[in-house]
Amino acid sequence: MRIKTIEVQNQKFLFDGNGLKIYETDNFDQFNAKYFLTAEAPRSLQTEYVRTVCLVLNNSCNLTCSYCYANKGVYDFPNEQMTLESAKEIIDPLMKLVSNNGGVELTVAFFGGEPLLSMKLITAIVDYMETSRGYLKCNYKITTNGTLLSQDNVDFMENHNFEVMISLDGDKKRHDTHRIFVNGKGSYDRVAKNITLFKNKNKLNARITVTNSNVDIYSYFNGILDLGFNRLTYALDSRISPEDFSIFAGSLRAMLSQYISDIRNCRYYEITNLSLALVPLLTSRGYMSHCNAGTSYITKSADGTIYKCPRFIGDNNYLYRFDKINIIHKEDRDRGIEIEVKDRNLLACETCEYLYICGGVCSFHSKKGGNVAYECQHRKILFEKTLELICSLTKSQRRQFILYLNSVWTELR
Ligand code: SF4
Ligand code: SF4
Repeated sequence: MRIKTIEVQNQKFLFDGNGLKIYETDNFDQFNAKYFLTAEAPRSLQTEYVRTVCLVLNNSCNLTCSYCYANKGVYDFPNEQMTLESAKEIIDPLMKLVSNNGGVELTVAFFGGEPLLSMKLITAIVDYMETSRGYLKCNYKITTNGTLLSQDNVDFMENHNFEVMISLDGDKKRHDTHRIFVNGKGSYDRVAKNITLFKNKNKLNARITVTNSNVDIYSYFNGILDLGFNRLTYALDSRISPEDFSIFAGSLRAMLSQYISDIRNCRYYEITNLSLALVPLLTSRGYMSHCNAGTSYITKSADGTIYKCPRFIGDNNYLYRFDKINIIHKEDRDRGIEIEVKDRNLLACETCEYLYICGGVCSFHSKKGGNVAYECQHRKILFEKTLELICSLTKSQRRQFILYLNSVWTELR
């Protein structure tokens, strides 16, 4: 059993971490656990086939961010460019794979380096997918530093319903500490100006990398919302110091408390880290791994090699063999799943009440020596606040909030 008790506004609740359900109960002694609580793991949220592919279009970048894990965009292999042929070689079989499994959607996530340096290739790939997709729905995502957005490429992305994730590390001072051009100038002003090119900001997602220079996330998160973003995603750099982690933890709690209060007051927007934790609670299906890398999500690098996710580019232990008929060899996928569970689960995960809304830590961090203790601690704050959010909403507030989430998730696809 995975059980957690919660008290919100003097009311007591019980969270069943296997059944992924929350019960309102004032009297735990009389609560008949035998009839309600679940001993088995929930059904998995992961699909049995790959339905998202990340295409690393190039290994180049026009910024030189000091914290970049991809070695300032080059991944140690400078000047690689993906070709249209290489993109088709994975898109064609994936379309077949999705169709053969009864799926209806394939998602392509454009990544780099800086993917907008390859805008012609993006246009060619999207045109190709739209003409060859048959009845499949194609979803497009892009992660960009935002400096190369122009009215033309914004119009193209809006016409094709792209979800656009723009890196933004806070206000000008914080953002410009790390996110700089080759000449040392900060990129904030350019990014803030380019955001105004979007007619519909609902598809934008501000991607905050939390490093030593912006751990106080609550102090700038309202400023990001003021720029017009309705969606934020943060990622914690695992290299931060214990002192900085403690500031981050306090600031994160404050930000999530404001979020709970905003949702209660029908001021809707998304913190996607929290939304991801909500999915298992809304569907009663759990994560095996929160990011799906190596299970239903794979990556093709600019040189044509296939990995579980961009962080593993260059590491032959995380290669996937591929053929045009089977997409990924079954034994690779099975091995991938085995590696996922082994790599992500800390000893503490075995008994953790949050396991199925968490899925374990990032497998790259656990494999390559990131600070998984901070990752775990931070997730526990996030899950505690996610449960608090649900428990603090009345039935009608909950219904309204779910309707909002459904509408933005449907609109995103
Ligand atoms: S990583 Fe931490 S929060 Fe997640 S399941 Fe493991 S112990 Fe729980
Ligand atoms: S394995 Fe880690 S770095 Fe890779 S996609 Fe998942 S969370 Fe991100």
